[in-house]
Amino acid sequence: MTASPWPRIIAHADMDAFYASVEQLDDPLLRGKPVIVGPRSRRGVVLTASYEARPFRVGSAMPMAKALARCPHALVVPPRFGRYEAISRLVMRAFADFSPVVEPISLDEAFIDLTGTLHQHGTPAIAARRIKEAVFAATGLTVSVGVSATKFVAKVASGYSKPDGLTVVPPEAAVKWLAPLPVASLWGVGAKTEARLMALGYRTVADIAGADPARLQKQLGSLGAHLRALANAQDPRPVARRRVAHSMGSDRTLEQDAVTDAEVRRYLKRSADRLGRRLREKQLKAGGVRVRLKTADFRLLTRQVLLTEPTDVAEELFRVAIPLADALRAQGPFRLVGMAVYELHARDGSEQFDLFASRDRQQRLERAMDAVSHRFGDISLRRARDIARPGTVMGDAPTLDGLQYEETDEESQEAGDWHAEEFWQEPP
Ligand SMILES: [Mg+2]
Repeated sequence: MTASPWPRIIAHADMDAFYASVEQLDDPLLRGKPVIVGPRSRRGVVLTASYEARPFRVGSAMPMAKALARCPHALVVPPRFGRYEAISRLVMRAFADFSPVVEPISLDEAFIDLTGTLHQHGTPAIAARRIKEAVFAATGLTVSVGVSATKFVAKVASGYSKPDGLTVVPPEAAVKWLAPLPVASLWGVGAKTEARLMALGYRTVADIAGADPARLQKQLGSLGAHLRALANAQDPRPVARRRVAHSMGSDRTLEQDAVTDAEVRRYLKRSADRLGRRLREKQLKAGGVRVRLKTADFRLLTRQVLLTEPTDVAEELFRVAIPLADALRAQGPFRLVGMAVYELHARDGSEQFDLFASRDRQQRLERAMDAVSHRFGDISLRRARDIARPGTVMGDAPTLDGLQYEETDEESQEAGDWHAEEFWQEPP
């Protein structure tokens, strides 16, 4: 008996505890020990925990103080993004040997479209094993791979038996395979949506898959149809070949040096707005923010910070940039003010529908502004409080009432936008 043909073959490959594994690779003294990659400050958050730390219930995005309370003997190692980027290049190059269509999601994770490659590999399982071998040969690190006919199921499958996992879910088995998983496995279900679904009596993926569509629509609006499709293993999105940047920046060399706090903040605000918009355009979120200031005698000063949660919201970028700039303020005046974002991750669709998240309002506001900017030009729209009045940029949280159209003579293109270190070359 032959299995039914696969309409598409999509692999999702995800390095195991990537940052921590790189640190253990480079430093033998860290091997076999619980390692936490993150800032040494107890107020920071865990970026990655090694598998030795996970039995202590230490995981990504957990406050460092909590992680160290749970695992006091963990070794904390500050992140070395340059090194992770170098290894990421090797990983992505290995993926590119298997398909011209690779979609990186972050430094250590990508979708690979294997449709039409089976004449080379035999079966999806053999292809997945070869991907794992190629990555190990190139880096000495393990990767977990999931394969199915949709991005969603492939992604869930890669996380199914980590570390060093290999899970193949044939299309005809996908709905049954998803059925017992908790609703939180569905893209679009964050903590708040999960609580809401539980309160409505939906516990497993099967509960959503079999729910009455009209009832779901009434309870959850458009989110209902989205979740029900995923629960039934329906996800038509293609693997999109693309490039991912390591960092992007927006600087401005000033005609007159910025002297006051208000001036510095106004330029930072503009950089944050531009970076937020570019992140949203590219469907990326930033995990780190760097402020760059150049003094009148041409010294470049930088300060950076990792965010507790990646964002594409300009207001959030701006808020963390302020104290960074304030710390350098005494060395002014400045002839260049700017900021950059780094630790970039692709949005995988998991947050677009998190209707109950508190930051949703700011996100909607900024996306609405994107749409207007697109139609009417780059800076046709500003929040009223951002119009060049020194001291006004620090107002209360913006509301839709604060929106105002403004015609302006300013040039629409900032000279200092840059896009650093493209690491993902499209295959020839
Ligand atoms: Mg990973």
